[in-house]
Amino acid sequence: MKTNKDWDILIVGSGLYGATCAHELTQKGYRCLVLEKRMNIGGNCYTENRDGINLHLFGAHIFHTSNQRIWDWITQFAKFNHYHHTVKVDFEGKRFSFPPNLETFNQLWGVKTPEDAKKKLEEVRFKGAIDDSLEDYALSNVGEEIYNIFIKGYTEKQWGQAPKTLPSSILKRIPVRLNYNDSYFSDIHQGIPIGGYTPIIEKLLKGSEVRMGVDYLSNREHFNSMAKKVLFTGAIDAFCDYQFGKLLYRSMHFKHYCHEIEDFQGLAVINYTSAAVPFTRIIEHKHFELGTQPVTWISEEYPEAHSASSEPMYPVRDTDNLAKLTQYQGHLSTDAYKDYYFGGRLAEYLYYDMHQAIGGALKKSEQIAKDLANS
Ligand code: FAD
Repeated sequence: MKTNKDWDILIVGSGLYGATCAHELTQKGYRCLVLEKRMNIGGNCYTENRDGINLHLFGAHIFHTSNQRIWDWITQFAKFNHYHHTVKVDFEGKRFSFPPNLETFNQLWGVKTPEDAKKKLEEVRFKGAIDDSLEDYALSNVGEEIYNIFIKGYTEKQWGQAPKTLPSSILKRIPVRLNYNDSYFSDIHQGIPIGGYTPIIEKLLKGSEVRMGVDYLSNREHFNSMAKKVLFTGAIDAFCDYQFGKLLYRSMHFKHYCHEIEDFQGLAVINYTSAAVPFTRIIEHKHFELGTQPVTWISEEYPEAHSASSEPMYPVRDTDNLAKLTQYQGHLSTDAYKDYYFGGRLAEYLYYDMHQAIGGALKKSEQIAKDLANS
């Protein structure tokens, strides 16, 4: 690219990754132009205020990290409350504590002590040969009853695949505890920004020019001519015109409802694990900010195959797709792309939590600043 440009860097995508880079680079004096194809900033972290309640319109977002540097960084932009994430499971009308803990084992089997729960788990777990599938991992750790109630139906709905065909790594995120700790996350810090995530993104984008409803890929030559360098946070396969094939994603659509009552379900998230219920979760947004409004907003989450009309959400990182990813990464590491940077959950085809997206963006913006200083 030539150096006589209006902008130092063109950032494609105003999600948490792009917005973090925009903030860091404007702070260092670089001119950033941000293009966003949606009509909202913040990507999937976007929140919208309705009736005084901040709705997580693209799925529940709980901030959690054990990285002190990331926590200090994000809390510059918002005050976080002490929301502590716990989840209940609804299976055929019965409610259970989740992730599995002593309360759950008491509800299922009447056991009261860690020792008795351990014995029962040992008794029920499958002890034969297993493969690396999610199903075998679950059966060999917690047995058939827990697998059927908590994992099987939910996983089939979430991934649209039999658990036998999915890797065990998906389930390894979920702890099984022999005490009454029902915390979903084990991190040192967790909470929800008071006022939602959108005000954070607005602060991060301050000082950058942001153009909404603009798809970079629809006119990339024109946009490239405007800046010295490009940071692309969209889908890596789309950037390469799918030349090695499409990377598979799972998507989701949401149905949002307002109820004229104070409290619909008593907490923020209930997982519906039965295959007979078409959605996987109901989110009641006011509980994230301990709201006391006279009405409440809930969202049902319906997993679905990713299509042209839906957002790519969860990468399906199986052997086939990882092989394609390697081809894309190889292609983009050539000299032809030396003025481009790729980062974020879509460009890296990674399931990134928010603290990881920020961590990656802070590192990337240091590299970009160094390259701009030398250019
Ligand atoms: P995105 O948020 O996807 O932003 C990318 C942006 O780029 C989008 O706005 C997109 O429109 C834009 N874009 C793409 N292509 C183009 C183009 N060609 N031109 C212009 N713009 C383009 N993390 C947690 O820590 N806790 C949680 O509880 C949590 N819950 C989640 C629930 C769901 C349902 C999902 C999907 C994710 C969740 N996450 C959670 C992860 C979190 O959303 C991500 O870490 C974060 O959004 C990553 O930011 P990003 O900028 O990489 O991606």
